[in-house]
Amino acid sequence: MEKKQKIVVIGAGPVGSLAALYAASRGNDVEIYELRGDLRDPSTTPLNFTKSINLALSERGLNAMRHAGQPKLIDHVKAATIPMRGRMIHGKKPNGQLYEEAQDYDIHGRAILAIDRGGLNKRLLDILDEMPNVTFFFNHKLTGADFKKNKAWFEVKDGTVSGDKGQRAREIEIDFDFMIGADGAHSAVRYHLMKYTRMDYEQQYIDTLWCEFQIQPKENPEDENLMSKFRISPNHLHIWPGKKFMFIAIPSDDGTFTCTLFAPAEFYTFLESDPSGAHIPDFFDNYFPGVTDLIPPAQLISSFHSNPHLPLISIKCKPYHYSSSAVILGDAAHAMVPFYGQGMNAGLEDVRILFDILDKHARMDENTADHDPASTRERALDEYSRVRVQDAHAINDLALQNYVEMRASVLSPTYRFRKWLEEQLSVWLPSLGWQTKYSRVSFGNERYSEVVKKSDHQGKVLMRALTGLLFGAVGGPLVALGVVMAVRYRRAVDV
Ligand code: FAD
Repeated sequence: MEKKQKIVVIGAGPVGSLAALYAASRGNDVEIYELRGDLRDPSTTPLNFTKSINLALSERGLNAMRHAGQPKLIDHVKAATIPMRGRMIHGKKPNGQLYEEAQDYDIHGRAILAIDRGGLNKRLLDILDEMPNVTFFFNHKLTGADFKKNKAWFEVKDGTVSGDKGQRAREIEIDFDFMIGADGAHSAVRYHLMKYTRMDYEQQYIDTLWCEFQIQPKENPEDENLMSKFRISPNHLHIWPGKKFMFIAIPSDDGTFTCTLFAPAEFYTFLESDPSGAHIPDFFDNYFPGVTDLIPPAQLISSFHSNPHLPLISIKCKPYHYSSSAVILGDAAHAMVPFYGQGMNAGLEDVRILFDILDKHARMDENTADHDPASTRERALDEYSRVRVQDAHAINDLALQNYVEMRASVLSPTYRFRKWLEEQLSVWLPSLGWQTKYSRVSFGNERYSEVVKKSDHQGKVLMRALTGLLFGAVGGPLVALGVVMAVRYRRAVDV
């Protein structure tokens, strides 16, 4: 990529921080403007006003960090993670007995990693702090941008100046070569970009709100080992599928679990209707059996009333850039519902793909006469939007579909059989290249749009083979394979 451009990054969340790292390691002058204070300062109000969000970090996010040119980053980040190798489904049998059923994500034993979003973000900021060509501007809110003149305006929270109508915030103007907008779902960069490019834009609030709860560590763990502090398995993402609702728990590295209730807005209204909260524990006992053994009813009620009830938004737009001046990444470009655990992973992957494409075009133009960084970047950004839009739209759709899978399909025999069959085929016939959709999304770096195509194809082939088997219209080898598979399945289920 061209040297010594002034790159401004808007938003110091995980995606903006990683983008700043990529830009700075290519020798550019990088300025990061962030609306809030430095999140390493305890007085800063966290994003969404929640204490923490525990996220599932998976291969795409890790791969993007691996390529950031900072060898210690991955170890630094991984040190604060807990591997989750599958889902633990919690339920109640018809006789009233509680049960747990582990469903591994991957037959090859691969795991996704639980991490605190704030913790990951702080680690990225720490590394950026060490780079001499990076300057932070906290408490700076982007309020305007001119992408033809490459100028931007910010409201600065630290100081105020007197005006006719009393005090108002101080405003500053800056110029830049290239702006990277990583300012989240309600992106100001995207808003201003729309005035310059014919951007298609679509947003959807799904009829689900989320609220956080916590499972505290054991009071008297058997020993000092962190693992013995957890009240339920730390190596699983716990799910209480309630068909219309869902409750999940993700481990933290202090022995707690951060839990999230996902439910339609009308249920929140119903639960809010009694200020005493007396029916909240009943609701949990009905739909999420066993939770009241892990979170005392009084704590359930107080968390429900004191933690915010937040919406979930899904955004699709295109293109992601204007000329050579600006591009949007992460939630600013494609906020998605959290049910595939891919929002941040996809945003971090955006950074890797953007810089791969910028580097490729810079190499192509390096030896041309009158080499102009802006026109090289414009061609690269054109390609970036073309390539990335399809993939971002694909994962947005998968994330919406996965809500049904998590809260209901995990209980269905058909779903379990297909998962099992695809996993067996991946082991016994590796040359076919079969994998479950989940494995392709979470443990690989294939384009999301390719994942969808391959998984649809696998589904069709399976359906044809099973139909053929059923009607005896296929040859002996397939029947034999079916019998072997059925026996193996029976054994696996019996175990
Ligand atoms: P953000 O994290 O939103 O950061 C944007 C930054 O820009 C903020 O710091 C903000 O203060 C700043 N900003 C905003 N406006 C301005 C402005 N005008 N000027 C300057 N700065 C500004 N993803 C996963 O990969 N795995 C998961 O398991 C997962 N679980 C999730 C669970 C829940 C309940 C939710 C809600 C989300 C989950 N996600 C998950 C999604 C993930 O949180 C987001 O995709 C990720 O945080 C997006 O990062 P970002 O840097 O693009 O945006």
